[in-house]
Amino acid sequence: MTKPTSLYSIRVTSVEGASPEAVDACPVCTRTTAIPLYAIEGIEPRIVVCEECGLGSFAPVPSPDEIRGFYPDSYYGSTGRKFEGLVETLVRVVAARQARFLSRGLPAGARVLDVGCGRGVMLRAFADRGFEVHGTEVSEAATLGVDPRATLHITPRLADAHLPEASFDQIVLWHVFEHLPDPQETIKEIHRLLKPGGKCVIAVPNFSSLQSRVTGAGWFHLDPPRHLYHFPVTALRRLMENQGFKCTSEHHFSLRQNPFGWVQSVLNRVPSLPRNGLYVLLHRSGSVEKPFSRPQRWLFRMAFLFGMPIAVVMSVFTALIRQGATVTVVARKR
Ligand SMILES: [Zn+2]
Repeated sequence: MTKPTSLYSIRVTSVEGASPEAVDACPVCTRTTAIPLYAIEGIEPRIVVCEECGLGSFAPVPSPDEIRGFYPDSYYGSTGRKFEGLVETLVRVVAARQARFLSRGLPAGARVLDVGCGRGVMLRAFADRGFEVHGTEVSEAATLGVDPRATLHITPRLADAHLPEASFDQIVLWHVFEHLPDPQETIKEIHRLLKPGGKCVIAVPNFSSLQSRVTGAGWFHLDPPRHLYHFPVTALRRLMENQGFKCTSEHHFSLRQNPFGWVQSVLNRVPSLPRNGLYVLLHRSGSVEKPFSRPQRWLFRMAFLFGMPIAVVMSVFTALIRQGATVTVVARKR
């Protein structure tokens, strides 16, 4: 087995003809059997799919130490800037747009918590709109460069921040929930922290999307091994409703995530190309030497240039049929 060239190039292969196996109780439906679907290069746990609700998870469940090993400091970038210039500017413009969308219905000066705030792109966009912003993050290294208007809590689990009950108007988990080892506990804690009628917003890759099903083991948003859970949108809604939320809307279009996901996932189906090579090429740190040949770099750039317009059209289409590659579920505390 060759060593992956970066933390994004870990290979995923389909497990053919597997039969159901006994697993820990599913956090959504409590079922204890699942079907192995994908094997991940370099680690023992495989991605299995719950026989009842379709939730993807690891079996066996990785230990906390193993999970920490999935995140070297280079994962977060080094100076609060993760991508190259133009992409970074786009990320900020898109975050401002997302914050505007997520601010609908919030009172002036509302208290907003971003769980897994990373380098604080969303916190800054919310602070710009006049909200009182709080962020939690596992890694201090991840929060370099966070806007000084934000109150930060560095904590391994949300519950360990010991935030006061019923103290937030909105809690956001923006492409974070799939990284957390205890989804059920996290939803319970979010419910406790929200004011009555408070809003919870969770954005995750959609395991039941067309992009996931068509590109299979090549799907960019599997992000192995850092995504511990893969949610079909129905399973995410069920998990939230089980814990006292009412899901009020579901959004399937993301310009930031979905078109790029199409291009990279299709490239990942080409066996001779390094997994997530295009992503690595656009990524500033963690792969200083950019280990691709000239023809590969040329191919990636052409795929980006010509693939993105088609991918935008595909992303609009899949959003219309409610099959977006990523999904944002908005729910209210009952
Ligand atoms: Zn299940």
